[in-house]
Amino acid sequence: MKKNDLINLEIIDTTLNGAGVGRYDGLTVFVDAAVTGDVVLAHILKVKSNCAFAKVKEIITPSLNRVDAECGSYPRCGGCSFRHIDYKTELEIKENNVKNNLKRIGGVEPEFEPIVGLSDVGYRNKAQYPVSMEKGGLKVGFFSGHSHRVIDCPECQLQPTEFSKAVSVFKEFLSENNISVYNEELHKGLVRHIYFRKAVVTNEIMVCIILNGDNLPYLDNFIEKMKSVFGDCLKSVVININRDKTNVIMGKNCITVYGEDHITDVLCGVRVRISPLSFYQVNHNVAEKLYEKAAEYAEPDGKTVLDLYCGAGTIGLSMAEKAKKIIGVEIIPEAVTDAKFNAQQNGFKNTEFFCGDAAKAAEKLKNDGIKPDVIIVDPPRKGCEAELVKIITEDFAPEKVVYVSCDPATLARDCKLFKEQGYNTVKAATFDMFPRTGHVESVVKLMRLK
Ligand code: SAH
Repeated sequence: MKKNDLINLEIIDTTLNGAGVGRYDGLTVFVDAAVTGDVVLAHILKVKSNCAFAKVKEIITPSLNRVDAECGSYPRCGGCSFRHIDYKTELEIKENNVKNNLKRIGGVEPEFEPIVGLSDVGYRNKAQYPVSMEKGGLKVGFFSGHSHRVIDCPECQLQPTEFSKAVSVFKEFLSENNISVYNEELHKGLVRHIYFRKAVVTNEIMVCIILNGDNLPYLDNFIEKMKSVFGDCLKSVVININRDKTNVIMGKNCITVYGEDHITDVLCGVRVRISPLSFYQVNHNVAEKLYEKAAEYAEPDGKTVLDLYCGAGTIGLSMAEKAKKIIGVEIIPEAVTDAKFNAQQNGFKNTEFFCGDAAKAAEKLKNDGIKPDVIIVDPPRKGCEAELVKIITEDFAPEKVVYVSCDPATLARDCKLFKEQGYNTVKAATFDMFPRTGHVESVVKLMRLK
């Protein structure tokens, strides 16, 4: 097999990236935007020693699970992976992916609960749009898959419709006022990203514009334009300064130029203040289901709960009414400030929040004699540090650990570490926090072996 070959291929499996998997000449072939049950004419793009990559040249027989993508930007835009597949099948693929990772990488086979998926259109409460001058003109949209080229994505169904409207108004604003946009290679130009957040319960909107500088020309006009889209729901406009030559979207400093420096949402009955730099789950309705499951696994009643990687404190605070005490740890200072404020505005007096690295803070808490009954971890994609797993299992040694994860592979790796340390993964539940995309959220319950 070589590049540009055309081969007939039966698709026998589907990956979490929405690629079909076939076998040919003893090689595994990954075909973009195909699905189990398809028979396709595949155009080979690249051949490696153990696998090949292809795209669909022609669908010979469509799978019964294939659907119309209903999006003009799919699959060019790198956002979605499953638009060509029906939602039920997407959920099965995601659930199986978590199961297989836990079994193969983690060596654990917990009792599995059915995946929760709500498939709300426009479910994302946050969107960050890169701004770029491309060959075809000014683009405010998303990076095309595996590239740094920005493409427009005017009708993205993952975002609330008003975000898409605001993007088009923003494009007009940039053009009319001749405002320079950032060029990654030259590290020149002003506007890098525009970022919207929506509190779905209160409808409050935050607009954050990320600049390679600290000042947006015609700022009043910009705010007027944003008001024309969001009306009274616009509660906060913030400039974020990012002068670094980096892929990281946000810089450390924010200047509030209109309204408040935050918006407020309600999650699991808790009022939550969200600042531009604080993490907040992007899918409100599924996040509530996830937190309910975390609470069911944690059984916080009358217990001391340590909530590591706590963001704005949301998981712990959702259990604060029942727990004896909630202790949260988070590395972003603004998120810790939000967490403390959130505890106070909800009248919880049994909470404490610390800013720092989870492993280092855990070690300090242990030295201070803190003895949590339950530990919750919710790390970013790279998972927990091995050092932290050691502190949790050897020093704190709680009966129960609840692990919330947005990456099945690192979750599985960590479940293996926990297993080696005498903790069995007994239950697992998956949540489709990011419908149509190749991401899935899970929560597992780990119990110390007697
Ligand atoms: N539990 C929260 C946040 C989860 S996202 C929620 O459900 O909303 C993961 C969080 O871990 C982010 O807020 C991130 O800032 C934080 N984080 C990343 N690395 C960390 C570290 N080494 N120590 C502590 N927190 C960290």
